[in-house]
Amino acid sequence: MTERKFHKVMVANRGEIAIRVFRACTELGIRTIAIYSEQDNTALHRFKADEAYLIGKGKGPIEAYLDIEGIIELAKRHDVDAIHPGYGFLAENAEFAKRCADEGIVFIGPSAEHIQMFGDKVDARAMAIKAGIPVIPGTEDPVASLEEAVQFGQEHGYPIIIKAAAGGGGRGMRIVHSESELPEALERARSEAKSAFGDDTVYLEKFLDRPKHIEVQILADRQGNIVHLFERDCSIQRRHQKVVEVAPSVSLPDAVREKINEAALQLMRTAGYTNAGTVEFLVTSDHQFYFIEVNPRIQVEHTITEMITGIDIVQSQIRIAEGYALTDPEIGIPPQEELSTNGYAIQCRVTSEDPSQDFMPDTGRLLHYRSGGGFGIRLDVGNAFTGANITTHYDSLLVKVSASALTYEQAARKMLRTLREFRIRGVKTNIPFLENVVQHPEFLSGEYDTSFIDSRPELFE
Ligand code: ADP
Repeated sequence: MTERKFHKVMVANRGEIAIRVFRACTELGIRTIAIYSEQDNTALHRFKADEAYLIGKGKGPIEAYLDIEGIIELAKRHDVDAIHPGYGFLAENAEFAKRCADEGIVFIGPSAEHIQMFGDKVDARAMAIKAGIPVIPGTEDPVASLEEAVQFGQEHGYPIIIKAAAGGGGRGMRIVHSESELPEALERARSEAKSAFGDDTVYLEKFLDRPKHIEVQILADRQGNIVHLFERDCSIQRRHQKVVEVAPSVSLPDAVREKINEAALQLMRTAGYTNAGTVEFLVTSDHQFYFIEVNPRIQVEHTITEMITGIDIVQSQIRIAEGYALTDPEIGIPPQEELSTNGYAIQCRVTSEDPSQDFMPDTGRLLHYRSGGGFGIRLDVGNAFTGANITTHYDSLLVKVSASALTYEQAARKMLRTLREFRIRGVKTNIPFLENVVQHPEFLSGEYDTSFIDSRPELFE
């Protein structure tokens, strides 16, 4: 394989992840190009790239970043070698990946085929089954009729969960507790899936009782080498969305952890996957583990894996896309058996959400923004600075705070200390809530599962 170094990379995204990619590029000597919507005229990411161009003139705030032809046209006009899609927006859009390839622009991510395969949760399950990975008891095909759903419930017992095949980000899921709820739930799940994802395909799974969410970071090059960078515990969720993440998992026995990491490798090897990706599992209290999905992109919580392994995942993505092998000095990742972790890392997503108002996004001018910091702290700031205008156009993430230390307890204490140093005025934030989480005895025990937040009212005080 011949390698081709990129000179110019465009990031088809905004906020912290755009800035994260710019930094990776700059360290590699690559010129960076930002795109920004009209609504993001003063957003931070616009000023963090070497060049920045307006996209989606006259379009809505989200539509601008989804403007495939507009983005391709800009990229061609400015001689861009490759596009990094970040997460969200076009990151899992197979058509975009294909359009890039058609135009001779490298898409920094997996192939369009892999995006397609893992974007459909029914196809992803089929691939996991093919690879011999345990999946949650569920329907093998999309559910076409109420009768099928009723039969599944009778066979497996309740509760069950209806999932949109095209779902993501904690959306497109509905838990059903009894057969009598099924007709309406199915109807609603379908119409919600249709309006949210433009596809009303749904399938059923048994709803596991308070599992842990464990996911494995994978890196694979185009020469067929693949490694896992160990696991993250993302069980601290609100409404199926991650809030606090930990790496590596604190409470899993080593034998279980190794099996899960091995299963993730096995799946991605079988699929012939390339670039960075994450394999997600649910783990029951008796340590049975089940595949749920693959995220074929960089994830929000990649920072904590970087902290415990020392590996720059975004730079690895770029070098893999240039054609380098994992072990090439340009990437420098040793073979799996030589990889290890160092200490623990925790990430908190600081958002402009009001915990006392059911986490409603708050808006307004940031009158004052002062961050925490210090030894072992990493900040990935989105659009947060004194004077920034916080709107409802985009997600409410202000800054990702990651803390690492030799032990889990030390990392938690460091996180608490840092959160307390923040001063944010002008919008409400979830910082008081995060402080409650990271000093909760159950959080410190590492024994939490996905029901942690919803079953602990004291966290909201
Ligand atoms: P998304 O793609 O929207 O992130 P996932 O399939 O990754 O959806 O699931 C997100 C979360 O929903 C999981 O981490 C878990 O908390 C919960 N969940 C999903 N499927 C099940 C299930 N079968 N049983 C119990 N909880 C589930």
